[in-house]
Amino acid sequence: RAKEQGRNTYRFFKPEMTAGAAERLRLENALRGALARDELKLQYQPQVRLDDSCMYGAEVLMRWHHPELGIVPPARFIPIAEELGLIVDLGAWVLARACRQLAAWDARGLLVPRLAVNLSVVQLERPSLVEEVDAAVQESGIEPDRLELEVTESMLMRHAEQVIANLAALRDMGITIAVDDFGSGFSSLAYLKRLPIHRLKIDKVFVDHLTANANDDAIARAVIALGRGLGLEVIAEGVETEVQADFLRREGCAEAQGFLFGRPMSAAELEAFIADGGAVQLKPEA
Ligand code: C2E
Ligand code: MG
Ligand code: MG
Ligand code: MG
Repeated sequence: RAKEQGRNTYRFFKPEMTAGAAERLRLENALRGALARDELKLQYQPQVRLDDSCMYGAEVLMRWHHPELGIVPPARFIPIAEELGLIVDLGAWVLARACRQLAAWDARGLLVPRLAVNLSVVQLERPSLVEEVDAAVQESGIEPDRLELEVTESMLMRHAEQVIANLAALRDMGITIAVDDFGSGFSSLAYLKRLPIHRLKIDKVFVDHLTANANDDAIARAVIALGRGLGLEVIAEGVETEVQADFLRREGCAEAQGFLFGRPMSAAELEAFIADGGAVQLKPEA
């Protein structure tokens, strides 16, 4: 398998391959050089407080600009990058880029308090993760508390020792840890209590049908209550309508992210968005 063959091995097209397999192989081979060819870009999606719509941060989302296929979404290329081991280099690049972007905004007097970067399970299980994060933070000169790392609930439920050790070390550095796509991973609540985490992100699948599906309403309420009980911040992802935002606000969810407040955008677009006030009014931190 490609994984065992390592990241420097190319696989070749064989006539018996299906169209799907050939397409996948084409992506694999192109992805190996994507970073060197500068085809990877970052987008930033605003995260806001629900009480006053203040933007307090943004989530960093990777995009691959393929010369022929156009923009390839992360759902298509991240699994390939993980399988090939390329995610380690891509992930380190995202971390370094995000920290540098914060420093660049600081230098220009633009207030973006925090950036949240997604981690792959492959990164999270590596003993060198903490050093890599520390290097990115040090190199940029930002304070570590400006960086948030998102891990999914399913990654945590694998109960790997290295994962817990990494998260604890990152937390001790002052980094915020958020549990992404929360609610779909069947967390053991007793286990959750012992994890070094700060925030829960309510999965978009539960946000989509808020007020239209009683089960989803109940799940969202339960996650908000769980966060309150465990002393964790709660943010909802994928908020698209005022109805959803009103429900979440009413139920005591403090923060949200979604198309209603801002789509993922380039650094330049985010700067314009902040300058215009966008849907969001940025105020100094309280
Ligand atoms: P995620 O971390 O749960 O990111 C949220 C996804 O929801 C993003 O999709 C975002 O564009 C989308 N989204 C946010 N608000 C809305 C909304 O209101 N409506 C709709 N329809 N969608 C919304 P995206 O950018 O395609 O990313 C998909 C997934 O890829 C992410 O899910 C994350 O797991 C992964 N990913 C993205 N960037 C990175 C990265 O740099 N590293 C790693 N390891 N994974 C990444
Ligand atoms: Mg995320
Ligand atoms: Mg998410
Ligand atoms: Mg999600």
